[in-house]
Amino acid sequence: MIYQKNQYKDQKKTVLKGETTAMERKEKTLSTIFTCFPEGRHKVLTMSYDDGRTYDRRLVALFDQYGIKGTFHLNGGTLFGGAESDRVRFEEIRELYQRHEVSCHTYTHPTISRCPLSQVVQQVIEDRKVLEAACGYPVRGMSYPNGSYSKDIMQMLPACGIEYSRVVGNTDDFGLPENYLEWKATCHHGHNLMENAERFLGLHKTQYLYMMYVWGHSYEFGDDEKEWARIEAFCKLIGGHEDIWYATNIEIVDYMNAAGNLKFSAAGDMAYNPGAIPVWISVDGTVWKIESGETKRFCRQAGL
Ligand SMILES: [Zn+2]
Repeated sequence: MIYQKNQYKDQKKTVLKGETTAMERKEKTLSTIFTCFPEGRHKVLTMSYDDGRTYDRRLVALFDQYGIKGTFHLNGGTLFGGAESDRVRFEEIRELYQRHEVSCHTYTHPTISRCPLSQVVQQVIEDRKVLEAACGYPVRGMSYPNGSYSKDIMQMLPACGIEYSRVVGNTDDFGLPENYLEWKATCHHGHNLMENAERFLGLHKTQYLYMMYVWGHSYEFGDDEKEWARIEAFCKLIGGHEDIWYATNIEIVDYMNAAGNLKFSAAGDMAYNPGAIPVWISVDGTVWKIESGETKRFCRQAGL
């Protein structure tokens, strides 16, 4: 009887020992995989400017000088004014915004939460048609005119070909949005701009993805040279950093979609990128680039 008891005890011990070994093995083979921005970066800066006033010309030149990229939300119904118009002209859009993104802001800029939904559809579709004829690519983004939107409008936008839309307000934060159809910026350029920029530059924890998103209207700088000096000081401070990805709004959406669509093996040792753009990930701290259409097998030592 005593002998049997001991035997049982021994068996139990053996089984437990076996289980521990398996668990240990499992822990050692499960890699930590993070989504990275292009080139393995973890910070992105994007700018977002509304209404397409002629002051955009100066702002675009400033962004181009410092390698900063932005999205310009335009109203298709305002682009055909005469020489005295304070709006950019249809004919200049392709060249003016060539290093940036052209995006919707509705055709005539109504407060759309007051409009019948069927008319909001027209406002978006007609705006897209004009802007696409001007810039030569599908226009897929938007910012809400007067910051006005509703749940019904948000739900309707994907059927109108819109993949993100910016709201107004400031988060004073650097997180990515939960819902790109309700995308709130870090700050307006008149709200804690330099403080937020300094804070953003100081972020070094690579286990997070950080986004700084600044919005406004170029006409707010107007003819005030002090205001232009302020935005230039910001561009000078934040431009040209190796660890920052400078992107338009839609480039961020496209990239995050592509990253979210990577197909990983069950063991987490391979990833397939079925998308059209390369995606960067880090595996246990090593950065890997997965080309469009590529299946990449990670090994523990070598990267990229
Ligand atoms: Zn506006």
